[in-house]
Amino acid sequence: MVPDKKETANSSESIHEEQIQQLVALGRLAGTVAHELNNPLDGILRYLNLAIRVIEQGEANKALDYLQQSRDGLMRMVRITRQLLTYTRSLKASPETATLDEILNQALRIIQPIGGDIEIVLDRQLDGTARYPAAGLTQVFINLIKNAVDAMSGRGRLTITIHADQDNLTVAFRDSGPGFAPEDSEKLFQPFYTTKPDGHGTGLGLAICRDLIEKLKGHIIATNNPDGGSTFTVQLPYVNTSGQERGVVDHE
Ligand code: ADP
Repeated sequence: MVPDKKETANSSESIHEEQIQQLVALGRLAGTVAHELNNPLDGILRYLNLAIRVIEQGEANKALDYLQQSRDGLMRMVRITRQLLTYTRSLKASPETATLDEILNQALRIIQPIGGDIEIVLDRQLDGTARYPAAGLTQVFINLIKNAVDAMSGRGRLTITIHADQDNLTVAFRDSGPGFAPEDSEKLFQPFYTTKPDGHGTGLGLAICRDLIEKLKGHIIATNNPDGGSTFTVQLPYVNTSGQERGVVDHE
């Protein structure tokens, strides 16, 4: 069938619109990343200058603290660039696909040993046919498990549930940590938002998770549990191996 001219124009307009939005988002992210890298960079330069000055004045023993501060700044930059590199690699990664169950197993394998007194409970109502790009989703699951483990500070329970319904597959990560301030439920997903102590968080994990999930036309949200802790829920549209809509649900 020959497409209606108006329809063709509309769809190319909306593709154009989407590309513009992506560029705007990219520009914004580039600005934020440059800012976040520039802060430690300024500090490193200042501390190195101080170290040089005290060494020139023959007080080399005072340089140690300045050099340590410089190293801390560099470590922060390394963490940020490493996380961004893992993200861009997972975007470019091979189009290898796997079921959610396989991807979750892989994420759990990579993250072991977790240590501490943390119990992980798996509750899977599986659909064996839906397949998703493995690299990006493995990264999402690793981030969510790591965050839950961090939140529980060495003691607690993480329950991971996979649930299939007519249109979606849902993976929920429910922890027994302290939860978060309810007004921050969206802020958590902003790049560089972190409440972790210096030297631990970059604030990029959840922003990257949301981006990867939205690229798969899914959603990710954070909620506090009524009985304490929080739940991060990933919802993905159901697709079978041939990329078609869901038919019959085969629960295991
Ligand atoms: P980072 O882990 O580097 O801080 P993220 O983007 O992964 O960056 O997380 C941002 C913030 O969201 C965390 O610093 C923390 O405040 C909050 N957060 C993430 N996961 C949880 C969780 N399971 N429970 C409570 N707060 C969380």
